[in-house]
Amino acid sequence: MNNKQKQRVLLANSRLQTLAENFKMSAKNHIGFPGSVDFDYEPVYRLFGHMLNNIGDPYRDPTFRLHTKPIEQEVIAFFADLFRAPKDDRWGYVTNGSTEGNLYALFLARELYPEGMVYFSVSTHYSVQKNIHLLRMPSITIRAQANGEIDYDDLAQVIGAHRDRPAIVFANIGTTMHEARDDVKKIKKVLAAQAIINHYVHSDAALSGVVAALTEPHHPFDFEDGADSVVVSGHKFIGSPMPCGVVVVRKSLKDRIGNLVQYINTHDTTISGSRNGHTPLLLWYAIQKFGVEGFRKRAQQGITTADYALERLLAIGWDAWRNLHTLTVMLATPPVDLINKWQLSTASGWSHIVCVPGVTKKHIDRFIDELSNVAN
Ligand SMILES: *Cc1c(COP(=O)(O)O)cnc(C)c1O
Repeated sequence: MNNKQKQRVLLANSRLQTLAENFKMSAKNHIGFPGSVDFDYEPVYRLFGHMLNNIGDPYRDPTFRLHTKPIEQEVIAFFADLFRAPKDDRWGYVTNGSTEGNLYALFLARELYPEGMVYFSVSTHYSVQKNIHLLRMPSITIRAQANGEIDYDDLAQVIGAHRDRPAIVFANIGTTMHEARDDVKKIKKVLAAQAIINHYVHSDAALSGVVAALTEPHHPFDFEDGADSVVVSGHKFIGSPMPCGVVVVRKSLKDRIGNLVQYINTHDTTISGSRNGHTPLLLWYAIQKFGVEGFRKRAQQGITTADYALERLLAIGWDAWRNLHTLTVMLATPPVDLINKWQLSTASGWSHIVCVPGVTKKHIDRFIDELSNVAN
């Protein structure tokens, strides 16, 4: 290295250090976004010096060895079990996040039912509109109930008016703002009552997939409840230090489109071609570390923290509510300096706290103390 290069590297290192310190500070007041931040992935970082590419289908070995597909297969098996996918009819892959997983599921549905109409509630994540637009699928927005859950009567009425078309229902298992959960069993009942034989139901469980799968009472959202695909994010409840997700689908459906989609080489089954080989390692490490029981405990802790947060908000007379058995607490929007400090996402006069692992009673106490100063 010449002197100029050395100087640039020194400057770069000091900037990286400043960034790291800033991130550490923000993590202290991180209660408004649904990403866990309490997890140490250090052992995986040793592998970050390798270029790892899980190109194409996770079940097909490429000719080069720098991939983690066997690990990816274990990750998919874990989530397929968690979402009760049939043992002999499951397929999936590790995505860049739930946006890509949702895009894959909608793509699958469109290939199966090119004439299909997509139905989703008004509380659906903004990325879904974009996906539907990219895929040029016709869609109808369904009303939501006050708690953010889809309005089944409106769904029945709208589907009833389009009984000549296959129905593709996009179910939210945890809406972005209220963490409201649509009930897949009720959706299937609506489809049966309207005698819609050709249908597809997708569960977008980006935030709530693990919590919904592991806590009682069981919320109907998975394969046994009637879903054809389920998506979950890795960087939300699970806490991966970079965006990623998992999509699980019925293999028989994916195989059917494999034959239908001529322009897709049979191995080129994923939306992205070259795919991240490190994110499966991060998910796999979390699975090794926590397992089902560890995840369940973390989910229960989150629900307990949310119970506590709601109780404390109501006790200081602050307007607040939440959907039962979730990590999200809705509160009337606090003054702007508190929103900024605590990184609260806000819409239409309401903000939320998301009690993902790493958000503790101590965080809640500090926040409520500050809030009660402005309340009085
Ligand atoms: C976060 C979220 C998404 C998008 O997921 P990414 O992993 O950020 O791409 C989709 N749907 C819901 C309900 C979400 O909460």
